[in-house]
Amino acid sequence: MTRSLLTALIFLLCVVIVRAEEPAAEVSVREPLIRLVRRAGVEEACGVRGVAACTAFVGQRLDCACERSGSGWQLRPRAQFIPVMVLTDATWASHENEHVEDIREAVTRHLVQLQQRQFDSLQECKAEGERESAGFTALMDRFKLESNAARHPRFARMMVAK
Ligand SMILES: [Zn+2]
Repeated sequence: MTRSLLTALIFLLCVVIVRAEEPAAEVSVREPLIRLVRRAGVEEACGVRGVAACTAFVGQRLDCACERSGSGWQLRPRAQFIPVMVLTDATWASHENEHVEDIREAVTRHLVQLQQRQFDSLQECKAEGERESAGFTALMDRFKLESNAARHPRFARMMVAK
């Protein structure tokens, strides 16, 4: 085995180890609760006319812990939510799941960004964690709008115009 190959292997191994130690963003999404109702029931539950399905989210929560990172502090965020689907027909569940996945991905990206921030003191880290927790509902609302805008551009414009 040549020296350069050995160096490359050691480097690769280090990369793998460093990757494995990086804390993964924790987003816990429970199995959706599903309510099958008549069309009028969906419109009433969703608060919008002309829809066949919608998903609400309950138990939305972001908790942030702080942990030591080198000479400073780092956030260790955990998010969770439970989707509640209101459908006229069970076949709508797969479409609603696409929205849930959009939101899960957006939350995961956000948590990864939070984890990359460094704070000089524990107090700063805690204060930022509290701000993030307090703003989580508004952030989720933004992600829901973005998912609707991406998958139903006309419908999303209608909602904003309301
Ligand atoms: Zn949709």
